This record gives sequence, structure tokens and C-alpha cells, in this order.
Amino acid sequence: MIPRQGRPDHPARERRGRRGPYRAVICDLDGTVYRGGRPLPGAVEALARLRAAGTRVLFVSNNPTRTAASYADRLRTLGVDAAPADVLTSGAVVVDWLLAQAPGARVLLVGEPSLHAELAERGIALVDGGGDADVVVVSFDRTFDYRKWMEAFRALRGGARFVATNPDPTCPVDGDEVPDCGGIIAALEASAGRRVEVVVGKPSPVMARAALDRLRVVAHEVLVVGDRLETDVSLGARNGLDTALVLTGVSRRADVPSAVDQPTYVLDDLAAVPSLVVSGPAGGRGD
Ligand SMILES: [Mg+2]
Repeated sequence: MIPRQGRPDHPARERRGRRGPYRAVICDLDGTVYRGGRPLPGAVEALARLRAAGTRVLFVSNNPTRTAASYADRLRTLGVDAAPADVLTSGAVVVDWLLAQAPGARVLLVGEPSLHAELAERGIALVDGGGDADVVVVSFDRTFDYRKWMEAFRALRGGARFVATNPDPTCPVDGDEVPDCGGIIAALEASAGRRVEVVVGKPSPVMARAALDRLRVVAHEVLVVGDRLETDVSLGARNGLDTALVLTGVSRRADVPSAVDQPTYVLDDLAAVPSLVVSGPAGGRGD
């Protein structure tokens, strides 16, 4: 069926034909729903319209420094109906990964107190100092210093597994950006002479699987919406999900032609998503 909605901005480089109808949306937060603590124009209304049409929405963030409950509180403050179960963070996914793939492991965390607490609450054994760690978990850590670097270095040199929450080189903050987990991974790779084994956040298949399980849908029923080509769009493109890049955050329209993974749609903002999901592109819902 011929798509009626969404602009095929770069048809020659589109990854695949559009599918849908979409029963669920995996929605990025920063740069997609809000920016600088304020909702983006039309975003709150768009999410309400999606929910009213029966579309499941899962908010997915690579930022492990806030819990799902914290994000849900923030969304409700902005006027978006959200419960902790509606939010998936790279921190929660790394906990699930540890419990499934390294049960009983002693973990050295390079991370902030909030993620430390999240791991501890879910029964992960955390160690201070790197000597006896089975797994090193690296994350976005604004308290990263030479002591932490040395501890993680020693654990990795000692044979610990090497896992990270998210690959982002930077994190957008109020119109600026700050160094994120990607730089800490690089520091450890360079010093320890090891490559990171698993990075669970977007665009990883670990995150895609976790999101689909949470939504209880299959890949072709999902649209990933986000502002970053290398995380949001690649999450979809590499895991069989259609994607909509929104131009309210990091990535620009001019970035699309050279992107490794091409979005299915390029949209001005989240406000353009409901008509795509609810009414089109594959002939509407409930057909
Ligand atoms: Mg974003």
C-alpha cells in the first residue's frame, strides 16, 4: 500500500519499505519529548493522542543516571501520563543483563550513586576496588576520576568482563553537551587494551529485545521515534524496526544522507507522529 504520511526525504537511501500499522512506539526522551526541562511543542498532546488511539508507548533512555521512577515523575510533571513501567533505561537493562548473563557476579561499577543503588536494590553484589570483580560495568559517570579509572583498569587487566550501559560520546544538557559514557569506555579500552564486550543501551539488540518484551509486540508492529541517528535510528534499523527521526534534538536533516543507518521517516517533531501511527502509513489501524 502506498504511504500517505511521512515524507520520504531520502528515498534512495531508505533502508526498507514502510510497514506498520504500528501498535507501539518506542519513544526517546531528551530531544524528542522535552529539551532543557521543557516539553517540546506539541509533544504532550501527541503522546496523549497516541495513547487515546490504543498505541502503546515505551519511553527508552540511554541515560542510566535516573531511574524509571524518576523519569516517570518528570514526565508527569510535564503533563505526560507515565508510570515507571512505561520507562526503560540503560541502567535497568544492564541490571537485567547481569542477572541473566552473569548471575552471582561481583560487579565493579563505574557509575553514579543512583545506578549504584539500582544495582544494589536488585541484588547485584557490588565491590569496591577492582581486584576481585567478575564484571566491570561502565556508565555515564560525572564523578569519574583517576581512582575509578585505576580500579576498573585493574579489574579488566585481571580478566573481568567489560560491559557498558550506553555508547553515547556526549549527553545534551540545556543547549550544551557534556562528556558521556562513550569517552569512559574509550579511556578504559585504550588503557586496558581490551574492547568492551556488550553495550546494552541503544542501538544494541539487548535494548531492542528488552523494549519488545516490555511492549509485548513484534518488531514490525513498532515505530522507534528519536532525535539521534546513531542511537535511536540505529536501534531500529539494526533490529528490524521502522524509525522516525525527529529534528528537535541532536541530529539535523543534513546529517541524514551520510548516516550509517537510514531512518524510515524524517519528521519535524513528535507532533507529526500520531497521524503516521494512527492514520497511516499502511492503511490505518484496525484494518
Ligand atoms: Mg534523545
